[in-house]
Amino acid sequence: MARNGERHYETVIGLEVHAQVLTASKMFCGCSAHYADAPPNTHVCPVCGGFPGALPVMNRAAVEKIVLTGLALNCDVPAFSKMDRKNYFYPDLPKGYQVSQYDLPLCVDGFLELAVDGEMRRIGITRVHAEEDTGRLVHRREHGREVSLVDLNRSGVPLMEIVGEPDLRSPEEAREYLVALRQILRYIGVSSGNMEEGAFRCDANISVREIGGPLGAKVEIKNMNSFRAVERALRYEEERQRAILDAGDNVAQETRGWVEDRGVTVGQRTKEQAHDYRYFPEPDLPPLHVSAEMAAAVRERLPELPMARRQRLRERFGFAAADAALLTAEREVADIFEAVVGAEGDGERARTAANWIVNDISGLQRARGLPPEQLPLDVEQLRDLLDVVGEGALTTRAAKELLPEIAPGERPRDAAARLNLLALDDEAAVRDAALAAIDAFPAAVADYAGGKTAAIGRLIGETIKRTGGRAKPDQVRRLLEDELSRR
Ligand SMILES: [Zn+2]
Repeated sequence: MARNGERHYETVIGLEVHAQVLTASKMFCGCSAHYADAPPNTHVCPVCGGFPGALPVMNRAAVEKIVLTGLALNCDVPAFSKMDRKNYFYPDLPKGYQVSQYDLPLCVDGFLELAVDGEMRRIGITRVHAEEDTGRLVHRREHGREVSLVDLNRSGVPLMEIVGEPDLRSPEEAREYLVALRQILRYIGVSSGNMEEGAFRCDANISVREIGGPLGAKVEIKNMNSFRAVERALRYEEERQRAILDAGDNVAQETRGWVEDRGVTVGQRTKEQAHDYRYFPEPDLPPLHVSAEMAAAVRERLPELPMARRQRLRERFGFAAADAALLTAEREVADIFEAVVGAEGDGERARTAANWIVNDISGLQRARGLPPEQLPLDVEQLRDLLDVVGEGALTTRAAKELLPEIAPGERPRDAAARLNLLALDDEAAVRDAALAAIDAFPAAVADYAGGKTAAIGRLIGETIKRTGGRAKPDQVRRLLEDELSRR
């Protein structure tokens, strides 16, 4: 809701997401679906190459994963569903039609729960349906001229379309929805959700209306390749439509493309130019019967979803919302956290583990360019790191220094010994360092003697520094207090 002059506007947004389904083979043939690094047109057969007379066979794993997605999004799974042909011509579509679903999708009437400003909101999911991906056009210069080449490796890769209800009310909320949806798809293992590689694509419908007024004309925005782009494009479009309404004009119903480097949307086609896809039932594929038994068997595979996991961790350990969100953003990371803490782990162990993961370990992960689900330490290593610090055999400061030096599979305890970072057991050596610090900072000593007890912090820091970070802070404090009291 926003106030603009005398008018009060409301923004209405609905998102359509296309997500590639993670399967070994394509939707209707045995070709490998992993095309990313393959030379062009090497994962192609008569079926996905669109040869006349080639017959498709449905990929059961793809259907199951789409049903799993529907269940994760609280959808109903009708017993009867069918595939349809969506007819249009484009050079990356050799058959001249895309096999999709028209009026009887696999999953319908669900919702996704979203925490917005601390409040739970339900965003409706209209449907989740199955379809196939198209090939790709590659535009480049060859032999001195511009050429367009067709690569059919992606043709026939399983895809699902997740259509959301127009329940979103701001660009920020739209972004939150996408983040939450992508997280669910990754948690249940049905899609990589990789937006940059095109495995997770979003189109947005947005309209602005005066509160209480009739629904505004719907504008569809395409060509957004990141969460940030979606939010920016919607914000731009919201402003553009408000300005038109402020001027007393009508917004035209049309499709617009987001131009990332200019930060604007531009008109692509109007309602009059809209495609007529002339859908009809796919005659080469039998209808899909999802029995109650099959749906129940798929439901068995549903893991705990991110929202439920966040709430459970918050209740068990008293985490702040932001920390719980960071810990559970990736299922693999949350798994490591829970394995390290264990069923018996107390709040302190959990907070220490969470701190390490959210701060230093995540920092190292980013520095190494690792994917978000892959931490640089495994369960055994993180457990050992917490133990060795907890026992006092390694100071926190030395542990932070040690972290990037731990070799793959190496126990942090062994790495600390190898690098001579284990805590100093030798009290005489620590006392020598404390005496050296006292000699070097007479002003701090005088302050302390004069009643400024906080001045000891300087001496503690200096002493630890002189031991290469290996002296234990509480031992250093005790030795310093002992020394200073005798002066
Ligand atoms: Zn094929």
